[in-house]
Amino acid sequence: MGKVIGIDLGTTNSLVAWMTPSGPQIVPDEEGRGLLPSCVAFDEAGKPVVGSVARQGKAAPAERTFFSIKRFMGRGLTDFTGELQYLPYPVAGDSRSVRFPVGSRSYTPVQLSAMILATLKRRAERFLGEFILNEVVITVPAYFNDAQRQATKDAGEMAGLDVLRIINEPTAAALAYGLDQKKEGTIAVYDLGGGTFDVSILRLEGGLFQVLATAGDNQLGGDNIDDLLTALFLAEIKQHHGLDLSDDRMWIGRLRRLAEEAKKDLSTQEMVRLQVDLPEGKLWDRYVTRNDFEQLIAPLVERTLGPCAQALKDAGLSAQAMDEVVLVGGSTRIPLVKARVAQLFGRTPHDELNPDEVVALGAAVQADVLAGGTKDVLLLDVTPLSLGIETLGGVMSRLIDRNNPIPCQARETFTTAVDGQTGIEVHVLQGEREIAQDNRSLARFTLTGFPPMPAGLPKVEITFLIDANGILRVTARELRSEVEARVEVRPSYGLGEDAIEQMLEDAYAHGEDDLIRRQLIEARVEAERRFPKAEELLAEMVAVVPAAALEPMQAALESLRGVCAEQDYKAINTAIEVLEESARPLVELRVNQATQSALGNASIDELLQKVEQARRQV
Ligand code: AMP
Repeated sequence: MGKVIGIDLGTTNSLVAWMTPSGPQIVPDEEGRGLLPSCVAFDEAGKPVVGSVARQGKAAPAERTFFSIKRFMGRGLTDFTGELQYLPYPVAGDSRSVRFPVGSRSYTPVQLSAMILATLKRRAERFLGEFILNEVVITVPAYFNDAQRQATKDAGEMAGLDVLRIINEPTAAALAYGLDQKKEGTIAVYDLGGGTFDVSILRLEGGLFQVLATAGDNQLGGDNIDDLLTALFLAEIKQHHGLDLSDDRMWIGRLRRLAEEAKKDLSTQEMVRLQVDLPEGKLWDRYVTRNDFEQLIAPLVERTLGPCAQALKDAGLSAQAMDEVVLVGGSTRIPLVKARVAQLFGRTPHDELNPDEVVALGAAVQADVLAGGTKDVLLLDVTPLSLGIETLGGVMSRLIDRNNPIPCQARETFTTAVDGQTGIEVHVLQGEREIAQDNRSLARFTLTGFPPMPAGLPKVEITFLIDANGILRVTARELRSEVEARVEVRPSYGLGEDAIEQMLEDAYAHGEDDLIRRQLIEARVEAERRFPKAEELLAEMVAVVPAAALEPMQAALESLRGVCAEQDYKAINTAIEVLEESARPLVELRVNQATQSALGNASIDELLQKVEQARRQV
């Protein structure tokens, strides 16, 4: 049987794993290394070089060596503030996309990610030979939005892979530990990598995983620890040897590598010795104890606890309620990190597996399930923000709520507002605000070509479908004419964890005002809908009843017009009721007339049709 592979496409490193009879395993490269640095450099001839040669800066100068590509997936240039100025490579683009210029050419994050994925694919093909299918499961952070997931999927396809599923990294980590076998419980996944920190709270029920909440800090990780140690070394060298190396890029690079090595050694040793030949024949010789190190990094470790508390709060759970805690990311090897996590959750976290490999191993477990392996797990994720469309008056009509488990489908029927309309524009929105323009616009498309009908008669069914990869497809179909526009929504790029958080905060802050604005818009739309009908009725009845009989309705109509100009939705709703009440005797009269005129005819169907028409016109 062929193998489906699992890939962890990471910010710093990527891995590929497959399922063996004894469990999931990382596929090594020719030199036996599992990690592939997620780095792409372009050499003199413009040829891409992927992996450690690129990472070490041996393939090309810094301005043609691209790393942290994952941060740009599915995002626009305007989503980044400040962070870009520290990058050694150029970044171009617009509000919807990012491009990396290389000479006269430029590459998208999707293209560069595809090069990384293609390298992993070749690695798997060489190692597994004929067993490899081109099918793959790729992991993404739980907070990735539709655009970021779609970009990841596009990268896989560009690399010649058939992406069976995109799954969340914390879910993969839980799978690697076989936690799906427990059938029930809550799991905290603490992921401290090189550049980012993420914490996710998962619920496992009947073998299904749901992401209850995620939080994190995308500027916090092992790199910050390396920075701290490097700064300490520079200060000491200056103090003890009178050498200021803080402007010397070569020395900073050297000390930083030394810092990372010392940090790693201190995860298993109580003390490390640093001996460095400095310029001017000076020797720097110093011991760093684990205790020194822990004092230095304690504030950084503390900074991870805030997002943990936030995620627990969002999930409505206490730290003690966690049944399992899983560690992911190279920096969780640090004993102080493990100890603080254990203390926070009141239990020993899982650290039996290599924290760099956990996510890829979990992807292989899921890949095996999809390839028809023995295990039976289903993964359930949730939508991070609500999805809906813009309706009359510019309000958001929600079809899928935030935190809804995916895959899912929602369907609702809408109609036209104007007589003779032969098309409608569908504006797809994402967000929690009541007013359409306060939300994020994902896509617009038009359903055209249905026959002209009176307002309110067409039935346009809108279907939202989010597949297992979190990708949204919207279909609009006019049911009477069966005209359909089946549009795949390519969600516009640009929404990260911070933006999601901001949108939730805004929605919360404006909640009450938004609701009042929405009610006002809805009341006005309802009133507008009544005006032409009421006028039509009055005009029709002028010849039928004495003028005095029309007065109550005329007055009610006038008063409704008056309150519509004001801001009180309750007053508008009351005025609508008064108008309805005042119109009732006239409507009855009209229905009677229609019945009587129809009685002369033979067909009962015709009679019913006329009655229906008379009613509908009110
Ligand atoms: P990741 O992004 O998950 O690959 O994590 C990489 C980060 O983990 C880098 O900052 C590494 O320096 C750090 N790291 C790797 N091994 C260790 C170790 N033994 N002790 C401390 N940090 C480590």
